[in-house]
Amino acid sequence: MSTSPEGVKLDVTILGSSDAFCSGGHPHASYLVETRQATFLVDCGPTVLLALKRQPIDTASLDFVVISHMHGDHFGGVPFLLLEYIYERPRTRPLTIYGPPGIAARVWTLMRALYPDVLPEKLGFELAFVELLPERRVTVADVEMHPVRVPHQDEDVSLAICFTSGGKRLLYSGDSPWDDRFIDLARGVDLFLCECTAYEDPMGRHIQWTTLKPLVPKLECKRLVLIHLGRDMRAHCAEIGVECATEGLKIST
Ligand SMILES: [Zn+2]
Ligand SMILES: [Zn+2]
Repeated sequence: MSTSPEGVKLDVTILGSSDAFCSGGHPHASYLVETRQATFLVDCGPTVLLALKRQPIDTASLDFVVISHMHGDHFGGVPFLLLEYIYERPRTRPLTIYGPPGIAARVWTLMRALYPDVLPEKLGFELAFVELLPERRVTVADVEMHPVRVPHQDEDVSLAICFTSGGKRLLYSGDSPWDDRFIDLARGVDLFLCECTAYEDPMGRHIQWTTLKPLVPKLECKRLVLIHLGRDMRAHCAEIGVECATEGLKIST
């Protein structure tokens, strides 16, 4: 694990780089972020336990969880993580899940569908939810989160999030179609994890490579890594000249 001379740390490990379909056999969206004072998940797809244990990363090391939006491939792993903390790695310290408005109700609705017997009082630890509101900055330990609403959904809120720690900055697009605000948001960041689900055929409200390609020179980030890769996009990763995420890739900014 590397740290800069000043002792600042913002490291990202790719846990899952696929779209909703586990294209190419890759796990769903999930990223481990480590700073000097915090270790946390950004998104928590259904395959999150598989992805963590393959590294391996001790599930007990997670201080908190951040959810960009409430699509299944981004938060469907939360019930399994909570189950892990009841049975496999019994947790006593509190856990906070940060996510868009409505996150608590959606997680408990999901939990009731999957494991109806798991009630809040059975967790054995305090589970808290904090709603991330667009443009409302939240600081946790040495991490500042700046959520920005992106046009991925109409009613539910989808967020891109800029994380800052000790002057290091990570921009996470979440799921989103291209939005020109990414040019401003990416300026000067150490790492931009930018979704690029499709290669050339539009795939819902997502970014496709043929849209992103001419914009790459405008992205003044220090490192650009494409994530949330669909089947066709994955097939072109070797030839596009921009780095594509793969599991286990650890990026020290
Ligand atoms: Zn997704
Ligand atoms: Zn989505």
